[in-house]
Amino acid sequence: MGCDRKTFLRVTGLSLAAIASGKAGTADNGPERASGPPVSGDLTAKRWGMVIDLRKCIKKAGCDLCVKACRNCHNIPEIGDRRHEIKWIWKERFKDAFVSERSEYADAAFQELPVVVLCNHCNRPPCVRVCPTQATWKREDGIVMMDYHRCIGCRYCMAACPYGSRSFNWEDPRPGIKELSAEFPTRSAGVVEKCTFCAERLAKGNPPACVQACEPKAMLFGDLEDPGSAVREALRANAAIRRKAELGTAPEVYYIV
Ligand code: SF4
Repeated sequence: MGCDRKTFLRVTGLSLAAIASGKAGTADNGPERASGPPVSGDLTAKRWGMVIDLRKCIKKAGCDLCVKACRNCHNIPEIGDRRHEIKWIWKERFKDAFVSERSEYADAAFQELPVVVLCNHCNRPPCVRVCPTQATWKREDGIVMMDYHRCIGCRYCMAACPYGSRSFNWEDPRPGIKELSAEFPTRSAGVVEKCTFCAERLAKGNPPACVQACEPKAMLFGDLEDPGSAVREALRANAAIRRKAELGTAPEVYYIV
Protein backbone atom coordinates (compact mmCIF):
# COMPACT_ATOMS: atom_id res chain seq x y z
CA MET A 1 0.00 0.00 0.00
CA GLY A 2 1.43 3.33 -1.01
CA CYS A 3 1.94 5.89 1.75
CA ASP A 4 2.92 9.31 0.47
CA ARG A 5 4.13 12.13 2.72
CA LYS A 6 0.71 13.79 2.97
CA THR A 7 -0.97 10.54 3.93
CA PHE A 8 1.81 9.73 6.38
CA LEU A 9 1.42 13.08 8.13
CA ARG A 10 -2.36 12.74 8.24
CA VAL A 11 -2.18 9.22 9.64
CA THR A 12 0.54 10.06 12.13
CA GLY A 13 -1.30 13.18 13.28
CA LEU A 14 -4.54 11.30 13.85
CA SER A 15 -2.81 8.45 15.63
CA LEU A 16 -0.99 10.82 17.97
CA ALA A 17 -4.21 12.68 18.66
CA ALA A 18 -5.89 9.40 19.54
CA ILE A 19 -3.06 8.37 21.84
CA ALA A 20 -3.16 11.77 23.53
CA SER A 21 -6.90 11.42 24.10
CA GLY A 22 -6.47 7.88 25.39
CA LYS A 23 -8.77 6.45 22.70
CA ALA A 24 -6.34 4.20 20.94
CA GLY A 25 -7.11 0.48 21.13
CA THR A 26 -5.09 -1.62 23.53
CA ALA A 27 -5.87 -5.14 22.42
CA ASP A 28 -3.58 -7.81 23.80
CA ASN A 29 -2.35 -8.76 20.37
CA GLY A 30 -3.09 -7.66 16.83
CA PRO A 31 -3.33 -9.68 13.65
CA GLU A 32 -0.23 -9.95 11.52
CA ARG A 33 -0.45 -7.06 9.09
CA ALA A 34 1.50 -8.50 6.18
CA SER A 35 -0.07 -11.41 4.38
CA GLY A 36 3.48 -12.44 3.38
CA PRO A 37 4.47 -15.56 1.55
CA PRO A 38 2.53 -18.67 2.55
CA VAL A 39 4.12 -20.79 5.23
CA SER A 40 3.78 -24.54 5.28
CA GLY A 41 0.18 -25.47 6.05
CA ASP A 42 -1.31 -22.13 4.90
CA LEU A 43 -4.58 -22.25 3.01
CA THR A 44 -4.10 -19.79 0.18
CA ALA A 45 -6.18 -18.36 -2.64
CA LYS A 46 -6.06 -15.61 -5.21
CA ARG A 47 -9.44 -14.34 -4.00
CA TRP A 48 -11.22 -15.88 -1.07
CA GLY A 49 -15.00 -15.98 -1.24
CA MET A 50 -17.95 -17.70 0.37
CA VAL A 51 -21.10 -19.30 -0.97
CA ILE A 52 -24.03 -19.89 1.40
CA ASP A 53 -26.77 -22.21 0.24
CA LEU A 54 -29.89 -20.76 1.83
CA ARG A 55 -31.94 -23.76 0.74
CA LYS A 56 -29.93 -25.86 3.19
CA CYS A 57 -29.41 -23.15 5.82
CA ILE A 58 -33.04 -22.20 6.40
CA LYS A 59 -34.14 -25.83 6.63
CA LYS A 60 -32.44 -26.04 10.04
CA ALA A 61 -34.67 -23.65 11.92
CA GLY A 62 -33.03 -22.22 15.02
CA CYS A 63 -29.57 -23.54 14.09
CA ASP A 64 -26.78 -21.24 15.25
CA LEU A 65 -23.77 -23.54 15.07
CA CYS A 66 -21.87 -21.10 12.85
CA VAL A 67 -22.54 -18.19 15.18
CA LYS A 68 -21.45 -20.16 18.25
CA ALA A 69 -18.28 -21.48 16.57
CA CYS A 70 -17.27 -17.95 15.59
CA ARG A 71 -18.04 -16.64 19.07
CA ASN A 72 -15.91 -19.30 20.73
CA CYS A 73 -12.96 -18.94 18.36
CA HIS A 74 -12.78 -15.17 18.52
CA ASN A 75 -13.60 -14.31 22.11
CA ILE A 76 -16.75 -12.48 21.11
CA PRO A 77 -18.55 -11.25 24.22
CA GLU A 78 -22.21 -11.64 25.01
CA ILE A 79 -23.45 -8.20 25.92
CA GLY A 80 -26.97 -7.74 27.26
CA ASP A 81 -27.55 -4.32 25.72
CA ARG A 82 -28.41 -4.93 22.04
CA ARG A 83 -27.17 -1.47 21.11
CA HIS A 84 -23.68 -2.51 22.20
CA GLU A 85 -23.58 -6.10 20.94
CA ILE A 86 -20.58 -7.42 19.01
CA LYS A 87 -21.44 -9.32 15.83
CA TRP A 88 -19.13 -11.10 13.42
CA ILE A 89 -21.66 -13.52 11.96
CA TRP A 90 -25.33 -13.39 12.83
CA LYS A 91 -28.85 -13.98 11.55
CA GLU A 92 -31.15 -11.43 9.96
CA ARG A 93 -34.57 -11.75 8.38
CA PHE A 94 -34.29 -12.34 4.64
CA LYS A 95 -36.24 -9.18 3.91
CA ASP A 96 -33.80 -7.10 5.96
CA ALA A 97 -30.65 -8.79 4.68
CA PHE A 98 -31.76 -8.54 1.05
CA VAL A 99 -33.58 -5.26 0.91
CA SER A 100 -33.31 -5.03 -2.86
CA GLU A 101 -35.00 -8.42 -3.28
CA ARG A 102 -38.17 -7.26 -1.55
CA SER A 103 -41.34 -7.63 -3.57
CA GLU A 104 -44.99 -7.40 -2.72
CA TYR A 105 -45.49 -10.73 -4.52
CA ALA A 106 -42.81 -12.66 -2.64
CA ASP A 107 -43.81 -15.36 -0.18
CA ALA A 108 -44.36 -13.55 3.13
CA ALA A 109 -43.17 -16.49 5.25
CA PHE A 110 -39.91 -16.76 3.30
CA GLN A 111 -39.24 -13.05 3.77
CA GLU A 112 -39.33 -13.56 7.53
CA LEU A 113 -36.84 -16.45 7.58
CA PRO A 114 -33.52 -15.83 9.35
CA VAL A 115 -30.47 -15.96 7.09
CA VAL A 116 -26.84 -15.88 8.08
CA VAL A 117 -24.88 -12.68 7.35
CA LEU A 118 -21.30 -11.53 7.92
CA CYS A 119 -18.71 -9.19 6.45
CA ASN A 120 -18.84 -9.56 2.67
CA HIS A 121 -15.10 -8.98 2.20
CA CYS A 122 -16.04 -6.58 -0.56
CA ASN A 123 -13.73 -6.30 -3.51
CA ARG A 124 -14.26 -2.53 -3.39
CA PRO A 125 -14.65 -2.03 0.37
CA PRO A 126 -15.84 1.46 1.33
CA CYS A 127 -14.77 0.79 4.94
CA VAL A 128 -11.13 0.59 3.85
CA ARG A 129 -11.36 3.78 1.82
CA VAL A 130 -12.49 5.91 4.77
CA CYS A 131 -10.23 4.57 7.54
CA PRO A 132 -7.89 7.47 8.48
CA THR A 133 -5.25 5.25 10.11
CA GLN A 134 -5.29 2.28 7.73
CA ALA A 135 -6.38 0.08 10.61
CA THR A 136 -8.51 -1.81 8.14
CA TRP A 137 -7.11 -2.95 4.81
CA LYS A 138 -7.68 -5.45 2.04
CA ARG A 139 -5.15 -8.22 1.56
CA GLU A 140 -4.11 -9.38 -1.87
CA ASP A 141 -6.27 -12.47 -1.43
CA GLY A 142 -9.34 -10.28 -0.82
CA ILE A 143 -9.69 -10.62 2.95
CA VAL A 144 -10.56 -7.30 4.61
CA MET A 145 -8.51 -7.25 7.78
CA MET A 146 -8.60 -5.27 11.00
CA ASP A 147 -5.67 -4.10 13.12
CA TYR A 148 -6.99 -3.35 16.60
CA HIS A 149 -3.78 -1.52 17.56
CA ARG A 150 -4.20 1.05 14.79
CA CYS A 151 -7.92 1.59 15.32
CA ILE A 152 -8.64 4.96 16.94
CA GLY A 153 -12.34 4.29 17.31
CA CYS A 154 -13.51 7.02 14.91
CA ARG A 155 -16.12 4.58 13.46
CA TYR A 156 -15.89 6.02 9.93
CA CYS A 157 -15.69 2.41 8.72
CA MET A 158 -18.98 1.59 10.45
CA ALA A 159 -20.65 4.55 8.79
CA ALA A 160 -19.25 3.52 5.40
CA CYS A 161 -20.22 -0.17 5.58
CA PRO A 162 -23.70 -0.57 4.10
CA TYR A 163 -24.14 -3.98 5.71
CA GLY A 164 -23.71 -3.26 9.42
CA SER A 165 -20.85 -5.76 9.44
CA ARG A 166 -18.74 -3.90 11.96
CA SER A 167 -19.19 -3.57 15.71
CA PHE A 168 -17.75 -1.03 18.12
CA ASN A 169 -16.65 -1.93 21.63
CA TRP A 170 -18.52 0.65 23.68
CA GLU A 171 -17.36 -1.09 26.84
CA ASP A 172 -14.62 -3.52 27.86
CA PRO A 173 -15.74 -6.73 26.14
CA ARG A 174 -13.69 -9.08 28.29
CA PRO A 175 -16.17 -9.56 31.15
CA GLY A 176 -18.73 -10.72 28.55
CA ILE A 177 -16.57 -13.55 27.18
CA LYS A 178 -18.07 -16.87 28.26
CA GLU A 179 -15.11 -19.16 27.49
CA LEU A 180 -11.82 -17.43 26.93
CA SER A 181 -9.77 -18.80 24.04
CA ALA A 182 -6.01 -18.35 24.26
CA GLU A 183 -5.82 -18.74 20.47
CA PHE A 184 -7.19 -15.28 19.65
CA PRO A 185 -6.56 -11.81 21.09
CA THR A 186 -9.21 -10.12 23.18
CA ARG A 187 -10.09 -6.54 22.32
CA SER A 188 -10.63 -3.46 24.45
CA ALA A 189 -13.14 -0.65 24.68
CA GLY A 190 -12.85 1.90 21.88
CA VAL A 191 -12.00 -0.35 18.93
CA VAL A 192 -13.99 -1.67 15.97
CA GLU A 193 -14.02 -5.34 15.04
CA LYS A 194 -15.53 -7.68 12.46
CA CYS A 195 -15.18 -11.03 10.67
CA THR A 196 -11.82 -11.64 8.98
CA PHE A 197 -12.76 -14.91 7.21
CA CYS A 198 -10.76 -16.59 10.03
CA ALA A 199 -7.43 -15.40 8.61
CA GLU A 200 -5.72 -16.83 11.69
CA ARG A 201 -7.16 -20.29 11.00
CA LEU A 202 -6.33 -20.16 7.28
CA ALA A 203 -2.72 -19.49 8.27
CA LYS A 204 -2.75 -22.83 10.10
CA GLY A 205 -4.42 -24.72 7.28
CA ASN A 206 -7.94 -24.68 8.73
CA PRO A 207 -11.15 -23.45 7.08
CA PRO A 208 -13.20 -20.69 8.73
CA ALA A 209 -14.79 -21.86 11.98
CA CYS A 210 -18.34 -21.19 10.74
CA VAL A 211 -17.79 -23.29 7.61
CA GLN A 212 -16.38 -26.15 9.66
CA ALA A 213 -19.21 -26.03 12.20
CA CYS A 214 -22.07 -25.87 9.69
CA GLU A 215 -23.82 -29.23 9.92
CA PRO A 216 -26.13 -28.86 6.90
CA LYS A 217 -22.94 -28.06 4.93
CA ALA A 218 -24.61 -24.91 3.66
CA MET A 219 -21.39 -22.86 3.65
CA LEU A 220 -18.65 -23.22 1.07
CA PHE A 221 -15.37 -21.33 1.19
CA GLY A 222 -12.76 -21.21 -1.52
CA ASP A 223 -10.90 -19.45 -4.29
CA LEU A 224 -13.20 -17.47 -6.55
CA GLU A 225 -10.44 -17.17 -9.13
CA ASP A 226 -10.00 -20.92 -9.39
CA PRO A 227 -12.54 -22.25 -11.94
CA GLY A 228 -12.17 -25.71 -10.42
CA SER A 229 -12.95 -24.65 -6.84
CA ALA A 230 -16.11 -25.75 -5.02
CA VAL A 231 -17.31 -22.16 -4.76
CA ARG A 232 -17.00 -21.61 -8.51
CA GLU A 233 -18.70 -24.92 -9.21
CA ALA A 234 -21.60 -23.96 -6.91
CA LEU A 235 -21.93 -20.58 -8.60
CA ARG A 236 -21.93 -22.21 -12.04
CA ALA A 237 -24.61 -24.70 -11.11
CA ASN A 238 -26.94 -22.40 -9.16
CA ALA A 239 -28.45 -18.93 -9.25
CA ALA A 240 -26.94 -16.78 -6.52
CA ILE A 241 -27.54 -13.30 -5.16
CA ARG A 242 -25.40 -10.90 -3.15
CA ARG A 243 -26.36 -8.30 -0.58
CA LYS A 244 -26.84 -4.81 -2.02
CA ALA A 245 -24.61 -5.58 -4.99
CA GLU A 246 -26.13 -2.56 -6.74
CA LEU A 247 -24.04 -0.31 -4.47
CA GLY A 248 -20.89 -1.30 -6.32
CA THR A 249 -19.02 -2.69 -3.32
CA ALA A 250 -18.57 -6.04 -5.07
CA PRO A 251 -19.41 -8.30 -2.11
CA GLU A 252 -17.66 -11.68 -2.16
CA VAL A 253 -20.26 -13.60 -0.17
CA TYR A 254 -22.83 -15.24 -2.44
CA TYR A 255 -26.19 -16.71 -1.50
CA ILE A 256 -27.82 -19.56 -3.39
CA VAL A 257 -31.61 -19.16 -3.17
FE1 SF4 B 1 -16.15 -3.44 4.69
FE2 SF4 B 1 -18.74 -3.82 5.28
FE3 SF4 B 1 -17.76 -4.72 2.90
FE4 SF4 B 1 -17.06 -5.92 5.21
S1 SF4 B 1 -19.14 -5.81 4.32
S2 SF4 B 1 -15.67 -5.31 3.52
S3 SF4 B 1 -17.00 -4.21 6.64
S4 SF4 B 1 -17.93 -2.58 3.56
